[in-house]
Amino acid sequence: MKKTTQKSPISGGPRNLVLAVLIVVGSLFVLTKLTDYARQVKTLSYSSLLKHIENNNVKSVHVSGQHVDGILKNNEHFESIIAYNPSFWDTLKQHEVEFSVSAPSNTWYFSFIGILFLLLLLMAWYTVRQLRNVGGGSGSGSNGLFSMGKSKAKLFMPSTVKVTFKDVAGAVEAKEDLHDLVDFLKHPEKYQRLGAKITRGVLLIGEPGNGKTLLARAVAGEANCPFFSISGSDFIEVFVGVGAARVRDLFAQARKHAPSIIFIDEIDAVGRHRGSGLGGGHDEREQTLNQLLTEMDGFQTGDSSVIVLAATNRPDVLDKALLRPGRFDRHVFVPYPDLTSREQILRVHAKNIKLDPEVDLLKIARGTPGFSGADLANLINEAAINASKNNQSLVTMQDLDISRDKAILGKENKTMRQTPEDLKITAFHEAGHALIRLLMPEDSDPLYKVTIVPRGRALGVTHWLPEREKYHQSKDELIGNIMAALGGRAAEELVFNKITTGAGSDFQHATKIAHDMVCSYGMSDLGPIIYNPNQQSFDYSSQTASLIDQEVRKLLTSCYEKVTIMLRENRDKLDTLALKLLEKETLYAQEIYELLNLEPRVDHSILS
Ligand code: ADP
Ligand code: ZN
Repeated sequence: MKKTTQKSPISGGPRNLVLAVLIVVGSLFVLTKLTDYARQVKTLSYSSLLKHIENNNVKSVHVSGQHVDGILKNNEHFESIIAYNPSFWDTLKQHEVEFSVSAPSNTWYFSFIGILFLLLLLMAWYTVRQLRNVGGGSGSGSNGLFSMGKSKAKLFMPSTVKVTFKDVAGAVEAKEDLHDLVDFLKHPEKYQRLGAKITRGVLLIGEPGNGKTLLARAVAGEANCPFFSISGSDFIEVFVGVGAARVRDLFAQARKHAPSIIFIDEIDAVGRHRGSGLGGGHDEREQTLNQLLTEMDGFQTGDSSVIVLAATNRPDVLDKALLRPGRFDRHVFVPYPDLTSREQILRVHAKNIKLDPEVDLLKIARGTPGFSGADLANLINEAAINASKNNQSLVTMQDLDISRDKAILGKENKTMRQTPEDLKITAFHEAGHALIRLLMPEDSDPLYKVTIVPRGRALGVTHWLPEREKYHQSKDELIGNIMAALGGRAAEELVFNKITTGAGSDFQHATKIAHDMVCSYGMSDLGPIIYNPNQQSFDYSSQTASLIDQEVRKLLTSCYEKVTIMLRENRDKLDTLALKLLEKETLYAQEIYELLNLEPRVDHSILS
């Protein structure tokens, strides 16, 4: 998506190549002519050559095939072409002309080879240049073979970054998360004065097309600072060491322009955890990654205000070292847009399009679950193209509908599209998680929001915020967490009387808590003992292992039973919540309290 602004790497390429060859050949020709002229070679006809010989005017000749070079007695150089004539040699001998002979040297043949060689050389140079440019665009004056180590980042000066947060529709939380970065970039001295260490690396996580790049540019636009944009794959070159050099160059440039922003798209291309992958390219990648880590550590000591934003949809494959404090320690999720966001995105992109007043963008938004921001932008554009093709004066609902259907057909294989039945199951599953949270005693974490918009591989998500930094978690809280995790499956079973695979990670989560309670916190009938299978000093027998299993299972099943009872008793609330979710896709805590007539929970998270 970002590639659109780049100039095509091929532009003018072959033309330049041809031009270069012409110049080389041309100058070679002129050069030989000039040297001949400098030597003042005169050309003699065969007859006048014979006459000169007979008049004893010739000192020496060199014959090569039919070509003759020679020197006259007055030291003048000459050349000539002779006819095949054996008597020529006798004539030379008679007049005591010194002569030498060589096999016909085919000068043109040699020139030809020379030119071919030159051509090959030029082509090789050209290819290397192209390789460098592919996917990167020409950044910051880095051209030619001698700037391999220059970063290929594209630099946008503030005057060219016109995007602000206003242009990013929806993505409310992501924008909130990025707000203080803007403040830092605008007034770095404010933070440095007190020695505050602000986050320097932010990881934007989300599926392609949901506006990660857009957000990064908006931060630059808001802060009015230079923006360096590069893709992770641009660092990697066949030659070892080049990537690391490019990272160094990029950060050096960014520091020179500080306060500034570096945006690394698809950071997983360099950031995959080390030791993974096969083949020679991987040394190079590790070196590049190491350099990136070094540069980011430099921030902690240095005082330049450079912020690195990186985008990925695979945070799970990133090297853990990248995520450590001081590096990419802040994560901002950029999820698929929900209903409201989709409507807003459609509105943003329809701004400059002549829409039929009949068009209902909310209706389109309803019909496009699972569409990314880019998909929606595309939908509007396709519809406009369609309308133009038909010479319409306005883009109608029908155009948008056709364009949407086309997009859905195209997406079918790519993203897992949920059928209405799937969506319904997801809605009840998430409502189950959320309701259990809400019905839990006061001291468990309050609900934040529930959504059935897919994020990554999870179909829906229920978020809750810890009320305060917790050093001690009570047994009740831990049990509450287990119950909330099991709420999804319990709701599915209660409502549909069948179970799906959607709860796999919930069980993993619940089991882990239960296991910790038994083995690490001494919160079971086994008593206050630590059983930690990862540390050999606490080795235990298989009998103990089965006791542990028993305890964990007891905990989980009793939680599951309690959850099922709670949901059954509150079936009306579960239904109301699930149906509202189906309608609105995302619900915030406040909306849910109102919907279910519940007393809002105090949110301690900010003040205490
Ligand atoms: P990503 O970097 O996550 O792959 P991009 O930022 O490149 O996605 O988004 C591609 C395009 O999709 C943007 O240029 C924009 O036209 C559109 N788009 C995506 N998200 C939004 C949004 N929240 N608001 C407006 N347009 C969006
Ligand atoms: Zn779940």
